[in-house]
Amino acid sequence: MNLSKSKYKQYWQCPKMLWMDTYQKEWEKQDANAEQRLKEGREVGALARGIFGEYVETISYTTDGRLDLDSLLKNTQKYLAQGKENICEAAFVYQHCYCAVDILHRTEQGYDIYEVKASTSLEEEYIVECAYQKWVVENAGIHVGKVFVVYINNQYVRNGEVDLHQLLKIQEVTDFLSPYLVSMDEKVKKAIQYISKKEEPQMDIGAQCFKPDLCTYWDYCSKGLPKPNIFDLYRMQKRKAVNFYEKGIVTFSDILEKKIALNSIQQKQVHAEVFHLPTHVNKNGIKTFLNQLSYPLYFLDFESFQTYIPLYDGIKPYQQVPFQYSLHYIEKENGVLQHKEFLADENEDPRRTLAEQLIKDIPPHACVLAYNKSFECMIIKQLAETFFDLKKQLLNIRRKIYDLLDVFRDGFVYDQAMNGSLSIKSVLPAMFPNHPELNYHNLDDVHNGTEATATFLSLKSLEKSKRDELRRSLLAYCHLDTLAMVRLWQRLQELVQST
Ligand code: SF4
Repeated sequence: MNLSKSKYKQYWQCPKMLWMDTYQKEWEKQDANAEQRLKEGREVGALARGIFGEYVETISYTTDGRLDLDSLLKNTQKYLAQGKENICEAAFVYQHCYCAVDILHRTEQGYDIYEVKASTSLEEEYIVECAYQKWVVENAGIHVGKVFVVYINNQYVRNGEVDLHQLLKIQEVTDFLSPYLVSMDEKVKKAIQYISKKEEPQMDIGAQCFKPDLCTYWDYCSKGLPKPNIFDLYRMQKRKAVNFYEKGIVTFSDILEKKIALNSIQQKQVHAEVFHLPTHVNKNGIKTFLNQLSYPLYFLDFESFQTYIPLYDGIKPYQQVPFQYSLHYIEKENGVLQHKEFLADENEDPRRTLAEQLIKDIPPHACVLAYNKSFECMIIKQLAETFFDLKKQLLNIRRKIYDLLDVFRDGFVYDQAMNGSLSIKSVLPAMFPNHPELNYHNLDDVHNGTEATATFLSLKSLEKSKRDELRRSLLAYCHLDTLAMVRLWQRLQELVQST
């Protein structure tokens, strides 16, 4: 068997992606959330199986833990012969093509296909997958009536047990499939031919690398580009970058030569790179920013998780749920740096305890600094809307949050080493190169927000000693996030005072 639903989708996005996946998979670079997405996909898929009541599953594994495709195919035929109403993972093969339908639902006319997605919107790629499945299933001799995509209703609010019929949206897509089914035999044949050749295909990077998502082989295919290049430009839209690339504007020198219009950060980035400029510092801008702040000064950072299936009452799918914060603070000018922190019990809804503790930890007259404050403000607003009795105090904290990112977003400081990224993970090493105290790589287990989320969600299933160890890692990670802010704030003061 040569083609599956996911491989066909790769071919649709970019034939070379399918080839890479077949012959050079070791170059694949998944983003940090990929594992969590897969896990959630499996959970949503498992939940959706019960959407029509009773069902049978074809799932079967080989002794070494792989999916047993032969058994899936045999089980499917067995259940079809038995006239089962709902067959999950119903597997079919036609020529060199294979597919497993999430739910095959029997109707009076034949069978309907239900494709389940852990997503809050209907995407074109799902239609592509549905078209492929319909084509395989029909060619395998089954009459397909309608085709549906089942995805997450982001307006659902959990109240008690998860209500499957409220959580999941079912949208018929039968009529959308026609253009994708045109010349299907031909397309499939070409895809199979494409991967029958061992020589690497010549295909330049282009718009296909970013649509619908960044291709997992981007690093491989772009490795020949000079560094930095048009795709590294601060906040450059990929579509625009591709246009420039296709016109031969690739390096930062090309950008200057062709007089491409740039925003102020992009200008600083390009000039710093081409002319090897020292750190750009706008003292007046920094001073104006610092003058807004007052003591007691608090540095706040939240960690949160999102799940498609809401874990607690009052939560929507994919809503941010804060579970941890770190607070560094200084009471008065030249005061001592102190620290408080909160990490929720992994077995309960963390929101109320966290909100109450936050109010205790931040005095009403405090000035609060965050990095990219929109996230902290959003979390506090959600807490205030959930707990009316705490609303006033929470909104009072929110009102006094200043954003340290503004200093960099307004271009008051730019260093070549930021490489066009203003995230704290880029700014920090640029401002404090090789500083062991401020190096996220020196932490154990948790080095970024994605790992923090995955770690917290995994705690429940772990033994106490491992759980305690990971809780310490979570605390260390969040502690570093706010310590980083403190050090940046101190560095800004030094820059203003320097001659
Ligand atoms: S990076 Fe672009 S060209 Fe390379 S395989 Fe992916 S989509 Fe195709």
